[in-house]
Amino acid sequence: MSWISHATPIATGAITCVIGSLESSLHHIGVIQHSHVLALWLFFAGCGVLQLCLSFLICTPIERIWPLTSWAERNPIVADVTYAFFVRLVLFPLIAFFEYDWLRQQLDGFFLAHSMKPPSLLALVPALASWPLLVFFINFATLDLSDYWRHRLSHRYGWWYGVHSVHHAEDQMTFWSDERSHVLEDTITYLWLIAVGLLIGVPSLQFPFVILGFRFVGSLAHSNTSISYGWLGDHIFISPRFHRTHHALKAAGRRSCNFGTALSWWDITFNTAKFRDNTIETGDAGAEPAMVSGSWGAQQAAGFRRMVRLARRARKAHATKAIS
Ligand SMILES: [Zn+2]
Ligand SMILES: [Zn+2]
Repeated sequence: MSWISHATPIATGAITCVIGSLESSLHHIGVIQHSHVLALWLFFAGCGVLQLCLSFLICTPIERIWPLTSWAERNPIVADVTYAFFVRLVLFPLIAFFEYDWLRQQLDGFFLAHSMKPPSLLALVPALASWPLLVFFINFATLDLSDYWRHRLSHRYGWWYGVHSVHHAEDQMTFWSDERSHVLEDTITYLWLIAVGLLIGVPSLQFPFVILGFRFVGSLAHSNTSISYGWLGDHIFISPRFHRTHHALKAAGRRSCNFGTALSWWDITFNTAKFRDNTIETGDAGAEPAMVSGSWGAQQAAGFRRMVRLARRARKAHATKAIS
């Protein structure tokens, strides 16, 4: 498979071993058909759940010991937990590995059929072949840069902010809030990252781990905690304080700042970073109650309604401007 040829030897060995063991276990319990695909699915879903467990084990104690704020009445978190598991068990293996790997193979096949090299960082700088970790980090940073712009644009256009506002509606932000997003936004985000990943030649095996890296930093960044990463840490990674400023009530919609996903460099580079802020309250005053504390389905429906409403408003404003 194409992911094997793209991976580093150590990673390939370890992953092949785990997937082989999973496949043997499936054979052992009588699952023979599609056992390889199922083993791959179990592997990536397992990696997603492990990342979530790691975030839980880090974030839960820091939120208990050093909380930033507390609420007299806690909103139900069932919807947020549903988002987190739905993404890890379904979306992440399906899109970040299977869909990406399939597209990667199609693209590689197309280039090879035309006697051309597929686009990749290694084709551009062959010397990097002996520095796999550096290649991973460059790919991570490039995808992070592209996600910065996706997020910034989602605050620029009304219809887009309508779907993104499901994420901003959270008024009791904790590490569980990271995955709270509309399925339409998840689709746009994955398509965006897949397109950039293919363009810069991120190997099939690296792509899911870059996404997991984003989710790990993201869950920490949403934590309800007063701890800081310090001056240097805040200027490298997206910290809870930095991201809370992005979720401030006054920062909802176009007035926002701090758009970064994992690295704060892009906000610093493009002048959207705001470090000196002590935001505690989060949310979006324009979000209807169903979007704030409704069930998963109610939040999705409310996000869709707001998308339509904001798109109509933008169209009207555009027409009025054209007349005057
Ligand atoms: Zn946002
Ligand atoms: Zn957020």
